[in-house]
Amino acid sequence: MISRPFSLGHGDVDGGGERGEELPAAPNEGAIAALVRDLLVELGEDPTRDGLLDTPVRMARSLVFLTSGYGKTLNGVVNRALYAEPYDDLVLVRDIEFYSLCEHHVLPFFGRVHIAYRPNGVVVGLSKLPRIVEMFARRLQVQERLTREVAEAVQEATSARGVGVVIEAEHLCMAMRGVRKPGSTTVTTTLLGDLDGDPVRRAEFLALVRPGGNERR
Ligand SMILES: [Zn+2]
Repeated sequence: MISRPFSLGHGDVDGGGERGEELPAAPNEGAIAALVRDLLVELGEDPTRDGLLDTPVRMARSLVFLTSGYGKTLNGVVNRALYAEPYDDLVLVRDIEFYSLCEHHVLPFFGRVHIAYRPNGVVVGLSKLPRIVEMFARRLQVQERLTREVAEAVQEATSARGVGVVIEAEHLCMAMRGVRKPGSTTVTTTLLGDLDGDPVRRAEFLALVRPGGNERR
């Protein structure tokens, strides 16, 4: 177990009651619901008809959940699940499902994240990697930034020798509007440390996560 304190993210504790000073204020669901009601009117709808009566409140709750990553910090998410371990080969977690919202259209983009890191004497509890993904995916995002933020968070949390993150995603703002290209996949990659600088490690990682490679769900 690591005793080294580390200070990451925007505060010292996770969301959910004990927020650090620098975390954004908890969203006001009532205020959001009122805005949604106005939005429905602007769109030509009648928010008093049966089917829409509870929509503002439901949509407000949904939006608050889908952006709940703003209320998380890396310290809170990792929650000290760091363990001294001499293992120094690649640790790879493939196919972490995620759902996010593009910050340009507030439409979903979603897919899979593959995370690898080379420990430097410290391993992180494997269940923490999907939680790190969620912390950043549940915000308004662009895929490129999401990829980098996840990689840098894993690097910071573990002080790894190297970190690699690949995200494969489909963007509904491309499928439902704009160029209307359903089924296309966008792939982004961030490589840090020796997964970037060491050609052998880099090739090993990229072969393991090659889109279309290995067994796919
Ligand atoms: Zn978009």
